Amino acid sequence: MAFANLGLHSQVVKAVAAAGYTSPTPVQAQAIPAALACGDLLVSSHTGSGKTAAFMLPCLHRLAESAAGNSPRVLVLTPTRELALQVAKTAETYGRFLKHLRTVCIVGGAPFFRQQQLLKQGADVIVATPGRLLDHLERGRIDLSRIETLVLDEADRMLDMGFIDDIELIVARIPSARQTLLFS
Ligand code: AMP
Repeated sequence: MAFANLGLHSQVVKAVAAAGYTSPTPVQAQAIPAALACGDLLVSSHTGSGKTAAFMLPCLHRLAESAAGNSPRVLVLTPTRELALQVAKTAETYGRFLKHLRTVCIVGGAPFFRQQQLLKQGADVIVATPGRLLDHLERGRIDLSRIETLVLDEADRMLDMGFIDDIELIVARIPSARQTLLFS
């Protein structure tokens, strides 16, 4: 199986090849076609299995397929700032051939005002930790009404860390007709 046969947009396949990967890992081979078919997914996979690309590539495919507006269309929630930064970097790596793709990372421990400025400039992909995202939401600094795909990365860890209430408040602000990809 090659990446080119998974049904991903050519600019996404090109970025994967530029990153040096030719064939998908098992979790990618299973999750990518299922996500491209627009189903909700519940995936159990460990760090190092290639799970980040397993959810990010279908998200980027969708962004590549249809015209970008100014509102975020993909939201990835992660339990930690470090993981969020890593996921945002992955979005940039595999989204490098998509025109005008904007990824914004919203995490605690970083200047709030700077994040607000970045959000104002528009974003396609938001990668966030729940607490800080909720701060922006409650202050009306971010609009999640156009989100098409919600990814919960390391969902089990987010629950262990007590983020359930924050996640429920965030999910209530996202359209219910969305795709949800849950990785644990
Ligand atoms: P993750 O499970 O997302 O933390 O990914 C672990 C590592 O696997 C990362 O360093 C990726 O760059 C790498 N990786 C992702 N996809 C592939 C692939 N198809 N083949 C080989 N390595 C990959």
